[in-house]
Amino acid sequence: MDHLPIFMALKGRPVLLVGGAAIAVPKARMLIRAGATLTVVAPRLSPDLAALGAIRHHARPFATTDVADAALVIAATGLPTVDATVSEAARAANVPVNVVDNPALSTFIVPAIVDRSPIVIGISSGGASPVLARAVRRAVERLLPARLGPLARFAAQFRGAAKANIREPRARRRFWERVMDGPIAAAVLRGDEVSAREQMLTMVNKPHTATGTVSLVGAGPGDPELLTLRAHRLLQTADVVVYDRLVAPQILDYARRDAERLFVGKRPGNHSHTQARINQRLVDLARAGKRIVRLKGGDPSVFARGGEELAALRRAGIAVDVVPGITAATAAAAAAGFSLTHRDHASSVTFVTGHGRDGATDLDWAALARADHTVAIYMGVAAAPGIAARLIANGRAPSTPAVMVESASTPAQRVHAATLGDLGDLAADCAPGVPALFIVGEVAADAVAAETVIAQLPLAAGWE
Ligand code: SAH
Repeated sequence: MDHLPIFMALKGRPVLLVGGAAIAVPKARMLIRAGATLTVVAPRLSPDLAALGAIRHHARPFATTDVADAALVIAATGLPTVDATVSEAARAANVPVNVVDNPALSTFIVPAIVDRSPIVIGISSGGASPVLARAVRRAVERLLPARLGPLARFAAQFRGAAKANIREPRARRRFWERVMDGPIAAAVLRGDEVSAREQMLTMVNKPHTATGTVSLVGAGPGDPELLTLRAHRLLQTADVVVYDRLVAPQILDYARRDAERLFVGKRPGNHSHTQARINQRLVDLARAGKRIVRLKGGDPSVFARGGEELAALRRAGIAVDVVPGITAATAAAAAAGFSLTHRDHASSVTFVTGHGRDGATDLDWAALARADHTVAIYMGVAAAPGIAARLIANGRAPSTPAVMVESASTPAQRVHAATLGDLGDLAADCAPGVPALFIVGEVAADAVAAETVIAQLPLAAGWE
């Protein structure tokens, strides 16, 4: 380690910035954010720097005596001789100094910063590659929930109570781990501090009763890159991941290594997992104190019986939240290279399915058959011929463009363009057991670009 990372308290302390041009602006901004009393020495200030306000400006060249009272000095003139003079003066006075882009003249370096105050992360490559350090920062930014700061402040409010109620330090650490990995932190992170506070008060007063939770999480259409950041985070903290057939294996890989994985899908010829049994299983697991991620292909609120699970869990008094996912219709439109709505061709879109509760489909066919309307048909392989016939009987032209997209967003993706009149043949051509979605409407006329889209699709490891 070439540098020791430390976090310096600068509130109200004098800091000297030498240089008034554009390269000084980010440094000034950072120092002001840290609460420093900032003095800038430079013959001229760039308008951006002047606009920051909160700066004392000496409009003259640097003088070695300027460093005398500073807690820190940053040289950002971009002029090698001036920067070298600043560095020399600061070191002679034993004041820490950083010269922008010049580690050799610096006694400290400024890291790339991820600021979720009070959580602050500094990332440094020791001057070897600031661009790489910034790339790491972006990766860390993506990984960390946006509301990490509020979570730290929330925890701070309960530190005293936790210390008073849970005296044994190891038990107290386990308590905080349960808070941070569980529903309380999850509630703060999604902005629901009221519920978090309620749960926290219960837990801090009865620290030994664990309560489980369920998150109904959309796993998207298959490509792991189409998972939401929240889905990814919840997968990494779940004790149990409950999933069915449409969830891609790579997505399960994001779960903790020691998490239990529970398959509750229907395999052809096996209907043993009835919805009632799945609901009960979720309730039982939650009552046992587990944090459960119930993963569903696409979005949990679209033809996924998410509403039934939600109702059953609520009835049982289990804390439950829903994380949306990318649904098959939008993934299929993206795969086939067109838009579900269009200012000229389609002012509305309907998601329909070929299977109702009792196997029949009773839809407002006249509305669906309107020319300016897009229809996305889920689970339609068996029902597609019937649906096509009803649309045509209600006045939709057989020449209306239609596409079938199989396994959208996965390497097995196939896009077939046809017309409404051919929809039945298209469905007959569909491989058994493969998820396929049909889209009918003028917008599908643009689906010609599909082959190129497929060619560009990167293969996720493990799909072959
Ligand atoms: N909740 C899911 C839909 C579940 S119903 C969602 O929001 O996407 C199952 C149907 O979704 C399948 O029969 C198929 O019509 C469609 N489907 C799901 N994933 C798909 C995919 N990757 N490509 C094409 N269709 C898909």
